[in-house]
Amino acid sequence: MDSRHQPQRQCVGCRKVRPKTELLRFVSRPSAEAVFDREGRLEGRGFYLCPGEQCFVKAYKNKRVRSSYFRKREQVNELIYEVREELSNMIKEDLIRCKKTAYLKDGLREEKTVREDDLVLYCGDNPPDEKVGTHTAARAGGAKVYRLPEGCECSSTWLIVSSECPIAPRLAMNLQKYDLLSSKGLAR
Ligand SMILES: [Zn+2]
Repeated sequence: MDSRHQPQRQCVGCRKVRPKTELLRFVSRPSAEAVFDREGRLEGRGFYLCPGEQCFVKAYKNKRVRSSYFRKREQVNELIYEVREELSNMIKEDLIRCKKTAYLKDGLREEKTVREDDLVLYCGDNPPDEKVGTHTAARAGGAKVYRLPEGCECSSTWLIVSSECPIAPRLAMNLQKYDLLSSKGLAR
């Protein structure tokens, strides 16, 4: 994707400017509680954060940001939890939509059909050797590999979502955000 033509926003935590779609949007409330804007459409004064715990903590440590958006340190943890839950729900909803189409395939049965830019999704509780096999097969085909959030109902060890699926870009972005928010910080 060409990032030059995408709207850019600044993270209030690390101050880096990134494409809007890669960031999480929040809306501040008069009670100084930030609310996650999952669809990016809520009205009100908004701010953006990278999907990384470090940026949430940095935002809280900044007095000016804190006074506008957070009262208590616990709110930061609550917010991270809330965002992860919302992202997980969105991913599950998108998977259900994909299941109704021919864009979602069983990775074990259709391994050889993986193509460049397809999404390869695996469940977190698979044996490690399975994961290695999945990564190797998918990466060789140029696919993007993502771990599914816990609690996703998977019919197979791994799934393939065709790059032609209209919701594949949104699904990929939410999976990436979920993964970054589940691990420590943002590795770049
Ligand atoms: Zn940031």
